[in-house]
Order: sequence, then structure tokens, then C-alpha cells
Amino acid sequence: MNAIITGSSKGIGKAIAMKFAEAGYNVCLCSRNKEDLEKTAGEIQAHFKKIKVAFMPADLSKKEEAISFSSWCLVQGSPDVLVNNAGTYLPGNTVDEPDGNLEMLIGTNLYSAYHVTRGLVEAMKANGSGHIFNICSVAALHAYEGGGGYSISKFALNGFSQNLRHELKKHKIKVTAIFPGAVFTDSWKGFDNSDARILEASDIADIIFATSQLSPQANVDEIVVRPVLGDL
Ligand code: NAP
Repeated sequence: MNAIITGSSKGIGKAIAMKFAEAGYNVCLCSRNKEDLEKTAGEIQAHFKKIKVAFMPADLSKKEEAISFSSWCLVQGSPDVLVNNAGTYLPGNTVDEPDGNLEMLIGTNLYSAYHVTRGLVEAMKANGSGHIFNICSVAALHAYEGGGGYSISKFALNGFSQNLRHELKKHKIKVTAIFPGAVFTDSWKGFDNSDARILEASDIADIIFATSQLSPQANVDEIVVRPVLGDL
């Protein structure tokens, strides 16, 4: 079995890759920084020697690179699981965030998932199976101060996810949108989480993996997961 995880050199994506690797899946990894990616791939391979860990540096906000990445994934093996995780966060409000914020966020958080998925979905259709996870955010569910372009990009990713779910059900391809609250990763660099106020990347990895293991007829459309004390 093969799992493709985008944005997997660190944070949530790395935790998801570790989880699938631990379960015996071959994993295909991607991020922009080659050194970070190589290091993470080496770490996963050292832990789980029986699986194949493949990696390709690419900037998935660029259409050609997203398409090249999905073509390369098909050469590695049949796509069973795709986790569209690559994403970035920039704070701001729609009316005065820096010019270009929205374009960058839509490119990284939406177009990456759109083009990678389109490159892989025909192979899933041919197999009559597959599971696509889109890592949205609670920022996709409601407006908040400082959400701006990030929130807009995640609302759009949720829209993409819902359309995919509708289109792919007849092919028995599963689609799950996940909406995490704050997760302790580099996105929260400097935050003191010594009191475990916010989620761990492993929480998201665990819930995605568990969801991927349900019977072929069960689709979890949406998962909302927040810190027990609520959003910050
Ligand atoms: P992170 O620690 O910053 O990791 C992001 C990963 O994506 C890295 O591997 C990064 O590597 C890669 N990446 C970023 N831009 C990319 C691009 N253009 N092309 C390819 N890879 C790219 O972030 P995270 O906190 O784990 O977040 C992962 C996902 O969860 C994101 O979609 C984020 O919006 C979502 N999310 C996070 C939280 C949270 O509180 N942490 C909450 C809700 C949702 P390079 O920089 O080397 O490319």
C-alpha cells in the first residue's frame, strides 16, 4: 500500500508519514526544502526498514511542479492514500493584509491540492479505490480576527473537498476534510505548550490513520478536532 503525503518534511505532514510508515505503507514525501526532506525521509527509513520511502522536492504552489510531483508518485506505485497537507499560514485581515498574501496562500493551500489530486485521481478511479484527505482548518469554518487570506484559502480547500466527495463517490474513492484547531508545530514557533494547551501533530496523524482503516463502504466526510479547552 502507498501513501502520498504533501508538506511532509515536518509538522503534521511528517507525523502522518510516520504513522503510515509504521503501519507498513510505502510513503511518498514532498516539500520545497531538499535538505529537510532528505533528513525526514532518512529518519523514517531508519525507523521502518521494510517499507520504501521516496521523496521529491517541489514547490506545489506552482502548477507545473505539482503536476510533476503527481506523475512521479505514479511511478513509485499505485496511490492508495493521498493527504493534501502542504500549507502555510500568514496572519492578516482581508482589507489591509499585504498585497500578494491571498495569491500566495491560495497557491500553497488550494492549488497545490487541486493539481496534485487531479494528477492522481485517474489512477484511483482505475483501481476503484483510494482515500483523499484534505487538511483544512477550523479557519475554514468561521471568520475570525486575523484570518484574512488564510481563512479564505481554507474555506476554498473545503469547497474543493466537498466537490471532490460529490464527484468521486460513484468511483468508491473516499474523501475526508479535516478541520484541526491549533496544533503545536513550527506554525506555533515560540508558543509555550508546556501545559499541553494545544493539539500535537500526532493527534492529527492518529485520527487520519484510524479513518483510513474503516470498511470500504464507510466514508468520514468531515473531522473537526480542537483542543479540549477550545480554540485559543
Ligand atoms: P509546518 O510545520 O509549517 O509544515 C508545513 C510543511 O509543508 C513543511 O513540510 C513545508 O516544507 C511544506 N510546504 C509548505 N509550502 C509548501 C509548498 N509550496 N510546496 C510544498 N511543500 C510545502 O505546518 P503544519 O503546522 O504542520 O501545517 C500542516 C497543514 O496543517 C497546513 O496545511 C496547515 O494550514 C494545516 N493546519 C495547521 C494547524 C496548526 O495549528 N499547526 C491548524 C490547522 C491546520 P517547506 O517549507 O520546505 O516547503
